[in-house]
Amino acid sequence: MRCVLSCLSIVAFFWAGPSTHAIEATLIIQNATIVTMDAEKRILRDGFLAVQDDKIVAIGGAEFVSQYTAPKVIDAQDNIVMPGMISLHNHTPMVAFRGMGEYAVENILFDVMFPLEKELLNRNLIYVSARHAAMELALGGVTLVTDMYYHEDEVARGTKEVGIRGVLGQSIIGFPVVDAPEPFGGLAYAESFIQQYKDDPLIVPAVAPHAPYTVSPEKLREARALSEKYGVPLIMHMAEFPNEKELIQERFNSMEEEETIVQYLDRVGVLGPNLLAAHVIYANEADIQILKERGVGIAHNPKSNTKYNMGLAPAWKMYREGLGIGLGTDGPMSSNQLDIFNVMPFTARIARLRYDDATAFTPLELVELATIGGARALDMEDRIGSLEVGKFADMIILDLSAPNMQPNYDVYATIAHSAYPSNVLTTIVNGVLVVEDRQLVNVDVAAHQAEWDAVTARVAEFRKTLPVEPQH
Ligand SMILES: [Zn+2]
Repeated sequence: MRCVLSCLSIVAFFWAGPSTHAIEATLIIQNATIVTMDAEKRILRDGFLAVQDDKIVAIGGAEFVSQYTAPKVIDAQDNIVMPGMISLHNHTPMVAFRGMGEYAVENILFDVMFPLEKELLNRNLIYVSARHAAMELALGGVTLVTDMYYHEDEVARGTKEVGIRGVLGQSIIGFPVVDAPEPFGGLAYAESFIQQYKDDPLIVPAVAPHAPYTVSPEKLREARALSEKYGVPLIMHMAEFPNEKELIQERFNSMEEEETIVQYLDRVGVLGPNLLAAHVIYANEADIQILKERGVGIAHNPKSNTKYNMGLAPAWKMYREGLGIGLGTDGPMSSNQLDIFNVMPFTARIARLRYDDATAFTPLELVELATIGGARALDMEDRIGSLEVGKFADMIILDLSAPNMQPNYDVYATIAHSAYPSNVLTTIVNGVLVVEDRQLVNVDVAAHQAEWDAVTARVAEFRKTLPVEPQH
């Protein structure tokens, strides 16, 4: 990389002429505390970072300041610059339903979620809600969200308007849904969605079979084949419920006697490096080894898992075994807050309880899960997840002047345990400012609010008909 930089310097020297030796970049950040999350976990004081279009072209100390020039220079004096957070599991359009089902948690799926989706889902709700969620994600420092839902092209549209990255999985499920009147119609929908978005700079289209208990083994194999045909990720819920095995047996009669969910999916042929599995609560030691050997990425969602009393995933074990594992929230009904700052300390606390070990997940390890760990789980660690020359310029700036951010003796402890999403000053994705000084740059917020109000007014009206929703 040094060679590339010095070559660039030479080129710039001759092109720019003797009046200036500076290399022209598109964006510069200087005077920052830069948390790189690179292989050496370097922290740069008085740090400097230059972006050319969508990529990081220089990162280092103050010695770079005189070497670069750019139309946009951010003085991040005393602030933290770090890789953008990667959220590995969400259903962003469900933000329109956030705050419902809070009094009917036991039967939320049948009493609240399914009736809501059956009655209210349409393209407009999905599009406007995906944009709403992306706004919240960007303001809270998430630069990439992984999603699974319906009409994923609408999710892509809303996400792109805000300007964050999306790994967006078109859902495939064994009963009629809003975007597919036939069971498993999501397969055809997924193929056209992939064709539409496969070359997009921000969106990675993906295939998302819902779960092993809603998708037959044959259709799981078809979903895998589709993901391989186009070289895109495969995303699914896995081992989230204690009774998944019984459900699979009842519906598809395809489980063997002593088999676990992970072993079943391995036999079906679904596991592989392009698979991102959400939850994976019910996994034993042998399962963890299988997931490791197959290179499966793990989306850990402790806030959702505990809200519904689903159990505690063996995340600490999986991390220590070297699996690609990162953090997610799950949908806005399951987690309410969409940011990853709130997930980091929760991850540590749950692991410490589960393993009776107060050393589980150090602050550095939590920041790793939220950034490069998430990138590894998505097999995207060569492009995102850390601040290094050649990687996409996805980063956030945290305001260290806020009272809760002081003192800052250990920057990882500050990020992992003290920071709030509201400490995010600036969010940059693909070299483009998405949030600046806590304001969304690319969205007409007033126009969005009008569309969002119309969406939620319709939801509020239907909510009155749900017996489990209190009307106080
Ligand atoms: Zn989910």
